[in-house]
Amino acid sequence: MKPFLYVANWKTNFSFNQEVAFAKEHHAELIELGKKPAATIVLCPSFCSLAPLHELFKNTSLALGAQDCSAYKPGAHTGQVNAQSLAEVGCTYCLVGHSEQRTQCQETNEHIAQKVTQLISHKITPIICIGETSKDHRAGKTLSILEEQLTPILALFNHAQALPSLAIAYEPVWAIGTGTTPTPDTLHKTYTWIRAHLQQKLGHVSQKIKLIYGGSVDEKTGLDIIKLTDLDGVLVGGASLDFQKFKNIVELQR
Ligand code: PEP
Repeated sequence: MKPFLYVANWKTNFSFNQEVAFAKEHHAELIELGKKPAATIVLCPSFCSLAPLHELFKNTSLALGAQDCSAYKPGAHTGQVNAQSLAEVGCTYCLVGHSEQRTQCQETNEHIAQKVTQLISHKITPIICIGETSKDHRAGKTLSILEEQLTPILALFNHAQALPSLAIAYEPVWAIGTGTTPTPDTLHKTYTWIRAHLQQKLGHVSQKIKLIYGGSVDEKTGLDIIKLTDLDGVLVGGASLDFQKFKNIVELQR
C-alpha cells in the first residue's frame, strides 16, 4: 500500500520555544507514529524551528516540511528563505500557495510556480495548495479556479518525460479552520476532475502526483475523508497542534 501522507501545518500558532518543547515532549510518540508502514508523517513548523527539529528527528522516519519558500535563488531577497537553506536544514517537503499566503501576501499563481521550480531544484517535494473561496464556491466556480491556479504550475512540466515528486493539496478556503468540510461525494467529484485534468495536461506521468485534502480535518471529519480512494494524504492545521488529536487522525482506519 502507498504510504498516506499526514502533513501537520503548525502555521505560526506556536512560538519557537513552544514548537521545540512540543517536539521534545512528544519525541518518542512522534517517532513511533512515523514508523507506521502505511503512513508518512510530515511536520511543518515555522522557519526558526526547522533546524532544531531536524536535529531531533534526523535518521527517523519522520519528515520535515517548511510552510513556504522564496521564489528566487540565493541573492538580494531580504526577509526570504531560499530552497537551498530549506534543504540544508533537512526539509524534504514544503507547502506553497497556502490560501493564507495567497491572501495575506497577495501571492500570484505565477509566483507560486517559481517557488515550485526552486524547490524541485533542491529535491524538495512541493505541496502545492489550491482551493476556491467561499464566494467562488457559491458561484459554482470551483473547477475554473482550480484550473487557473494549476495552469502556471503544470506549464513547468509540459514536455517532461518524467515528473519530480509533487503533491497537490486541495484546500477549499471556506473549509480551513471552520469545522466545515465538503461532502465525500463532492470531494470525490473534485478529485476525479483534478486527476483527469492532470492526465490531460501531463499524460500518464501525472499518475504519480499525490493528491491531498486539507481543511478542518479532525478525528470526526477525517473518518470519511481518508477513505476516499483517490486521496493520498491529508493536510492538518488546527488538529495537529494537539498531539493526541493528530495521532487519532493518523490512526483512523483507511
Ligand atoms: C490549513 O490551513 O492548511 C488547514 C488544513 O487548516 P485546518 O485543518 O485548521 O482547517
